Amino acid sequence: MRTWFAIPLWQRVIGALILGVAVGLIWGPGAESIKWIGDFFIRAIRMLVVPLIFFSLVAGIAAIGDIRKLGAVGGRALVLFVGTGVASVALGLTLGTLIAPGAGLALTLPEGVAIPEPATTSVTDMILAMIPANPVETMARGDVLPLIVFALLFGIGILMAGEEGSLVARGMDAAAIVMQRMTVLVMELTPFGVFALMAWVAGTFGIDALLPLATLVGLNYLGCLLIIFGIYSAIIHFIGKVRVIDFFRGMIDAMAVAYSTASSNATLPVTLRCAQRNLGVSRSVSSFVISLGATINMNGTAMYLGLATLFGAQIFGVSLDFGDYVMIAITATLGAIGAAGIPGAGLIMMGLVFSTVGVPLETIAFVAGVDRIMDMMRTTTNITGDAAVAVAVARMTGDLDVGEFESADDV
Ligand code: ASP
Repeated sequence: MRTWFAIPLWQRVIGALILGVAVGLIWGPGAESIKWIGDFFIRAIRMLVVPLIFFSLVAGIAAIGDIRKLGAVGGRALVLFVGTGVASVALGLTLGTLIAPGAGLALTLPEGVAIPEPATTSVTDMILAMIPANPVETMARGDVLPLIVFALLFGIGILMAGEEGSLVARGMDAAAIVMQRMTVLVMELTPFGVFALMAWVAGTFGIDALLPLATLVGLNYLGCLLIIFGIYSAIIHFIGKVRVIDFFRGMIDAMAVAYSTASSNATLPVTLRCAQRNLGVSRSVSSFVISLGATINMNGTAMYLGLATLFGAQIFGVSLDFGDYVMIAITATLGAIGAAGIPGAGLIMMGLVFSTVGVPLETIAFVAGVDRIMDMMRTTTNITGDAAVAVAVARMTGDLDVGEFESADDV
């Protein structure tokens, strides 16, 4: 028991991940019988999401202290979110064009795979959905984006109330601290959850399932790795002005949780903890930037939407001109912003992109079978991007504790 806790959490998590894959590959589909342990972990961590977002965001905004600084933090974060999103789609389109994963592929539609209901939301629907008509209902349903809007306004309200609101501000701060302690407790489940989820994924998919779509899956991984080690490293180095290696060390826990759960939302408590505890991003900036980023900043998803659209066009022989590429870039960026931070959200958003350039929706059925494997990598990319932007913004606004960053040791 003692020795278990003596091992840093991230090492236990990585060990569990590797062991899970090995057990899954040996056990095969039977490994599904332990998936419930992973679901147990995901439920425990999801339990934290709504109160954590609400209390830490409100406390964070109250701590920022004035509305002008809030605008400075938010504005910078948005520029970085959109900038990295567009760069990621461009990367997906480049990889898809150069390597053409769907060219010459004679696929038959897998039997019995239903095409998931594609997203039909229009841009106006997406904007309206951001307004929490009933905040209690929003919380009950766990809708993150309208919850953020409510928390944002609540925090601004506290700032406007000044002295009279200070009691609420202090209460929110105390509640946020309590939620963070709860996160630490729940994170102790991570090795078990990660082990079970990885065994399930490896056992269900095995290597064979991947072969027909190996190029697409490989490109998805390559694209994500280029984003993580190219774009994010550049942001950390040039804007964050800290050591890239320390950043990744500090983020290992969150990356492993994202990889095994394929959900940015479920990973949010861990991402927040890593950013505050290991990366030295102040509580106010990290709560704000990362909560927002978990929902709207999805670079892995943006890259994949571009790539998958070209894949669909290639297998069905749809020719695309330059205008179509521009349309894909725009809709994929919007689709990534609109995608919820839950498993398979990117798959649903494909409908939005495909229909604007006439790629058949059947493509979704081809890739659905291996989507989970790709989703895991997209999600890891997505949440790492949130933390990279948080570090960059915190550096620009003087909210980065570099000492904490460099000593980014084990949680
Ligand atoms: N699962 C991803 C996430 O939570 C979204 C996606 O499907 O691309 O970040």
